[in-house]
Amino acid sequence: MKKTKIHEGNSKKLYESEKENELIQEFKDDVIAGAGEKAVKIKGKGIINNQISAHLFKFLDSYNIPSHFIDQPSSREMVVKKLKMIPIEVIIRNVASGEMAKKFGIEEGKELECPIIEYYLKDEERQDPMINEDHIVAFGHATTEELKEIHRLSSKANAILKDFFRRRDLKLIDFTLEFGRYDRRIYVGDEISPETCRFVDLQTGKKIDRYILSKDVKAAEEIYTEIKERILGGLM
Ligand code: ADP
Repeated sequence: MKKTKIHEGNSKKLYESEKENELIQEFKDDVIAGAGEKAVKIKGKGIINNQISAHLFKFLDSYNIPSHFIDQPSSREMVVKKLKMIPIEVIIRNVASGEMAKKFGIEEGKELECPIIEYYLKDEERQDPMINEDHIVAFGHATTEELKEIHRLSSKANAILKDFFRRRDLKLIDFTLEFGRYDRRIYVGDEISPETCRFVDLQTGKKIDRYILSKDVKAAEEIYTEIKERILGGLM
């Protein structure tokens, strides 16, 4: 049973649950392309992202990548461990794209020689600036040991997910992970879904990301349904 709402973000609401060390994430249909832009609604997006996230968390767990996932009591809700979040977004990149390609003058779509792991401080006021490992430790956001674990889990999750999506004709360009602490261990939190992943559809050659999806809501509903089918098959 949901209790007090403790957070409403761009894509999810967070509620306290009856258990002190658990929370309920409710997935919304809203999507925001970029900082300062208006939210639009993609019908059914929240439900699909909840299903996909739950599936991917369970899948990663089978490879010993611990996540906050506990249960999925309804189509829009996920029960999770209440983590002490580390205020860093970890972006794992396999292909040069978007801002990163622009910033470093790398050709859009270039396959990287090896994956790149980047860190961004979650601070909307400052437009989530890029931050390095020394900053993270020096500012007290995480210890060196925690960062090592975050890097290891990010890199392993990338290898597993890249393969998982490849088998479903989706090329994983890049994706974002968030981490938090629970019982002195590091867990993956938040969500893993088309909200946080950027793909190229290998059947159509088209890029699929949050920005593109938010620009054409009708097309987005179809793309979401198609991706859901491909990722979950007959699971839903
Ligand atoms: P944002 O707040 O960045 O717009 P969301 O709409 O996705 O993002 O809101 C979810 C919020 O919940 C994020 O701030 C995220 O850091 C936080 N969060 C995700 N998982 C957990 C968890 N297991 N425990 C506590 N906080 C979490």
